[in-house]
Amino acid sequence: MKQVEIFWTGGFDSTFRMVQLSQMDVSIRPIYLRDFTNRKSEKNELEAIAAIYDCLRVHPKTKATFLPIQLVGGEEFRFSNNVPNEHIEMPSNETAKKTWESMRSKIDKNLSIVREGKIFRGTYGLNRPMSFSYQYIGISAYANAHNANVELGFTKSDAAIRKTLECFGKIIKEDDGRYCLLKDATDPDLYEMFKNIRFPIIDLEKTEIKELYEKWGYQDIADLTWFCFKPIDGEPCGQCVTCVPAIREGMAHRFSATALQRYAKFEEREKSVEYLEKVEKMYDTLLSSEIRKQFL
Ligand SMILES: [Zn+2]
Repeated sequence: MKQVEIFWTGGFDSTFRMVQLSQMDVSIRPIYLRDFTNRKSEKNELEAIAAIYDCLRVHPKTKATFLPIQLVGGEEFRFSNNVPNEHIEMPSNETAKKTWESMRSKIDKNLSIVREGKIFRGTYGLNRPMSFSYQYIGISAYANAHNANVELGFTKSDAAIRKTLECFGKIIKEDDGRYCLLKDATDPDLYEMFKNIRFPIIDLEKTEIKELYEKWGYQDIADLTWFCFKPIDGEPCGQCVTCVPAIREGMAHRFSATALQRYAKFEEREKSVEYLEKVEKMYDTLLSSEIRKQFL
C-alpha cells in the first residue's frame, strides 16, 4: 500500500486533503509542525486533529489506513507532556536531530532570500510584503531532511504562497495528479526549499472545497477544523492572519458575535490612512526596486 506523507494543521484545507486521502487505498502519515514560539493555537489544533482522526477512522467511505501523527519541530524539539494522545507519535532522536539541522540551514537560506530582496507581497486584503514564514521553512526542512515527498494542502485561494511560487517558479502537474515546482524554470533558492513538497489541492478554490465537504458527507469533519492562529478565551479571534480570510471566504458562521465585532474593527483599521501609510512604508523598506517593477 502506498504511503502518503502530509502536513496537517487541523485547518480547513489540509483536513480536506485528509478527507480525499481517506477515500483512497493508501496509508496516511500526517505530520504536525510545531512552532518555535509557544503558539497559542497549538493546543486547539492538536485537539481538532485528534477529533478529526477519530471521525475519519470510522467514516463509511474510509479506505485508507492511518499511521500515528508525527510531531516535528518546536524550540529544541520541546515536547510538552500534556498534548500527545494515542494518535501521536514522538519522533526518534535521530529524526529530530536531522530535521533540526536541516531547519537551521533553511533559516539561514531564508534570511538570504529576504536580504536579496526576493520578497513577495501577499494579497490578503491589503497587499503585504512577505517572506517565507516559519511554517514553510519547517515544512521544507522536514521534507528535505527525509528526502521524501510531503503534501502541503493549500488552495488556489491562498494567493500569497501560490503567487510567490508562480512569480519565482513554474508549477506543473505530475502524473499522480499532484503539483510541484519545475526545477529548470524555478529560482534555485525557491526550488531548494520546495523540491520535495507536493501541492495536491492547488487547483481548487476554497469555495469548491467547502462545497465538496458537504457533497461528500463530511460536514461534521469540516466543522471540527480549527483555523485561528491567536485564539482568545479558547475561541477563534476573528482578526488574525487566518481568521480574516476565513470570514471573507464564507465561514462567518463559525465565529462568535464578539469575534465578528473584532473583525469589523479590523476592517475599519485596515481602511485607515495611517494603516495604508504604514504598509506603503513597509514596501519601501522591504521591496527592492527590481522586485517592485514586477508589480507596478
Ligand atoms: Zn484568529
